[in-house]
Amino acid sequence: MPAELLIEQPACPKHMEYGPCGGVEFDGACEVADFRCVFLDTPTVRWHGGDSSPAPDAPGASRMREVLATRQIVVTDFPARALDAASLAECAAVLRGTTDAVLAGDSGRERVQFPPAYRTALIRAEGVEVWSGFTCRDRNRVAMEAELAALAHAGVSGVHCVTGDHTRTGARPDAAPVFDLDSTQAAALARAAGHLVSVAEAPATPPVDRRPARLLEKERAGAEICFVNHAGGVEPVATFIAEAQALGSRLGFIPCIPIVLDHDSAELLRSFTTLVLPPGYLDRILAAADPRAEGVAAAVELGRGFLALEGVVGVNLSGGTQFGGELEFARALAEIAAELGHAA
Ligand code: SF4
Repeated sequence: MPAELLIEQPACPKHMEYGPCGGVEFDGACEVADFRCVFLDTPTVRWHGGDSSPAPDAPGASRMREVLATRQIVVTDFPARALDAASLAECAAVLRGTTDAVLAGDSGRERVQFPPAYRTALIRAEGVEVWSGFTCRDRNRVAMEAELAALAHAGVSGVHCVTGDHTRTGARPDAAPVFDLDSTQAAALARAAGHLVSVAEAPATPPVDRRPARLLEKERAGAEICFVNHAGGVEPVATFIAEAQALGSRLGFIPCIPIVLDHDSAELLRSFTTLVLPPGYLDRILAAADPRAEGVAAAVELGRGFLALEGVVGVNLSGGTQFGGELEFARALAEIAAELGHAA
């Protein structure tokens, strides 16, 4: 073929095999490069990594399975400052006794975090269980296997496998992006290491009609829980769950509840990729005489709506705040978790 007829196809900047990621823009553009997401016009990639033969459950996974067998759970985001053991301990102390686990994950503004297993050990030492975020951005598969072994030893309750934001977004664009694996492959690796594995799915992000099918492939790889990204309220989440179940999914679902208490937490939430909030949610809170009280009430109301859905095994209180507001934000999370814990 003449060279002038060869048109170079763009490649996924995250090297994903089981794409697309959750960051596809609403118009179909790649979140990090100047072209259409390469997975939008191709069939959903079927899991072809073989049946995973899971190792026996890690102790933390067994503990969380026992809780999930008896009731719905409340998982809270964890607002502590990165690389600050004192902040981790203070926030954990505030949340102790109210949350079933803290979701200690990635942060766009603080890409450098304590390694997941070390952070898990620090938080668990304060009497709080941990559901650890686990991204493919900063480690190759060997380093990921080592981290999974360390997480099991540290007693992590669950491992939340995401491909991760690209280094071109967030605070460390100078770092090389690794992406040796993607979230689906990471789910298989984590399950094989004996973990209770969760993944994320974004129902409102293109290709909306194929998000349930993509989730099913993550389930085939080893995922058992799906954290449902902000999708616009109870009805869109109910529709997404029903569509996944109609395809045969038996996952447990944990919808994310946006936590907004003031302009700072609203700003941080707006930085989440492809965010869709329930209609009027932000306005209701920010226009209130007491935004904090209104934010707590709105979160509890939305949480109760999610917890009433079939297939929902818990809720995630999702969000954060600016520097200096961590403890106050943790107190609000504890308040909401305590309210919803009674409902669960
Ligand atoms: S939007 Fe995500 S999955 Fe699609 S090409 Fe870009 S990085 Fe890859």
